[in-house]
Amino acid sequence: METRKPTHVVLVSCPGLGHLIPVIELAKRFVLHHNFKVTILAVTSQTSRAETQILNSALTSSLFHFIDIPSPDITALVAQNDTVFTRLCVVMREAKIAIRSILSEITPRPSALIVDIFSTEAIPIARELNIISYVFVASHAWMLALVIYSPVLDELVEGQYVDQKEPLKIPGCKPVQPEDVIEPMLDRNDRQYKEYLAIGNGFLQSDGVLVNTWEELQREELEALREGGLLSEALNMKIPVYAVGPLVRQPELETNSSSESLVKWLDEQPSQSVVYVSFGSGGTLSSEQMRELAWGLELSEQRFLWVVRAPIEKNADAAFFTTGSSGIDEVAKYLPEGFVSRTNEVGLLVPEWAQQVTILGHRAIGGFLTHCGWGSTLESVTNGVPLIAWPLYAEQRMNAALLAEELGVAVRHRVLPIKKVVRREEIAEMVKESVKSNRVRERMKEVQQSGMKALSEGGSSYVALSKIANTIAG
Ligand code: UDP
Repeated sequence: METRKPTHVVLVSCPGLGHLIPVIELAKRFVLHHNFKVTILAVTSQTSRAETQILNSALTSSLFHFIDIPSPDITALVAQNDTVFTRLCVVMREAKIAIRSILSEITPRPSALIVDIFSTEAIPIARELNIISYVFVASHAWMLALVIYSPVLDELVEGQYVDQKEPLKIPGCKPVQPEDVIEPMLDRNDRQYKEYLAIGNGFLQSDGVLVNTWEELQREELEALREGGLLSEALNMKIPVYAVGPLVRQPELETNSSSESLVKWLDEQPSQSVVYVSFGSGGTLSSEQMRELAWGLELSEQRFLWVVRAPIEKNADAAFFTTGSSGIDEVAKYLPEGFVSRTNEVGLLVPEWAQQVTILGHRAIGGFLTHCGWGSTLESVTNGVPLIAWPLYAEQRMNAALLAEELGVAVRHRVLPIKKVVRREEIAEMVKESVKSNRVRERMKEVQQSGMKALSEGGSSYVALSKIANTIAG
């Protein structure tokens, strides 16, 4: 009897754990729910211990085949002041040679190529090889709508977006406040803006888009994006859009001495009493902002667990391509004098990186002060933890607007536009409000349940991924 070979799918991820982690989660779902063979081609920067750990566990995974493509050397192709966004685009452009060569040789022949948002330039390779291609957006549908519509906004809007008096209209979707635009739109003269517009156009060459959101959360945007929707009509876009989220990690099973002592500390705290503070895989504050945050936490008299990173003055995402290996003594130098000893009873400082999913799932956590990276946001949602929105870069100001104003699951600081310092009194207020606001907590529980339902068997995201799997398997 002839046994059918498993369908093989290749997923491509750009550097950065915020990108790689959801790609790995998508891979797992294809394997566990659809019995696919999955290969992940991950272009990596190997800059932090955390990344190395995640890579090592991916390389030895029995679920999927993981190929690590070291970041090509781009020093001659970028200027010193080019942003992380530009660098990611250039890295992925240069990595195309390796991606093409692997794709044309890998066996069994892949049935589909799924690329992340920074890798849309790899789609023509799939066309050459006659392979169906999708883009996987690890963020949400409103952001996708803005990215796809930006080439049109580029024609319609004069001057800088942030200087507009009116919100930016996207057909069929919520408008975007000028100060909330995605980071590469902040300066139209910067190189990253051109790279960003190219990404918007790149989507349209794919055979479909997968988004890490769910129908019940973003029906309006998803409908606008689909055939017959206002946005798709405006763009003459005919590709299907599937909501497949919320795809998030499960708590880490492996423990080490630092995670053990962290969980032990959490075990000793009352339920929902601790505010978890973290700015994702690459977020940094200025030294002034870091001191204000420390003062704010102290003033709030709330328990806290802070993943603290040495300040970098220039870019909020500066830790992205740099080696983060400061110990607690190093970072403590930037905190107000006496802060560590004064808060010793109520606060725990963790340098650089912590096991976030484990922390968010602990009963002691009552709130999450976050940079609103979409991965962190979904991890909080799936654990029902209310948010304090502290957006820094990328699409995080949009995320904060969505979470605070639309969904009511976050409190948000009012410091606008970006690059001003949030003062300690406001921080203390937000921290206190997030832990005691039943309204926000209850809303978060509702959103949590709707997300879990979408993902469970028969739920909207489960069905959507099954449809994609059927199309790929032919
Ligand atoms: N993360 C973590 N520990 C940390 C910081 C980040 O495990 O100390 C993980 C977090 O759980 C999430 C990812 O790194 O899965 C960050 O992704 P996100 O989209 O939130 O933000 P980005 O880092 O891309 O800005």
